[in-house]
Amino acid sequence: MDEAERALPPEDGGDPACWLRRVCPACGRLADEDPPTRCPACGAELPDD
Ligand SMILES: [Zn+2]
Repeated sequence: MDEAERALPPEDGGDPACWLRRVCPACGRLADEDPPTRCPACGAELPDD
C-alpha cells in the first residue's frame, strides 16, 4: 500500500461512492467535504453529480 492509499478514509460499511466523488480529477487528492466543492490542493471544481 502506498502513501495515497493510506490517506484515504477507512471503509466503515458506507457506500464507497460517497468518498470517491471527493477525489479530485485533476490531482487525485481527496477533498475535505462532499461535492460541490473545490479541491483544497489545486482548486479544481468537484461537481455534484
Ligand atoms: Zn486537485
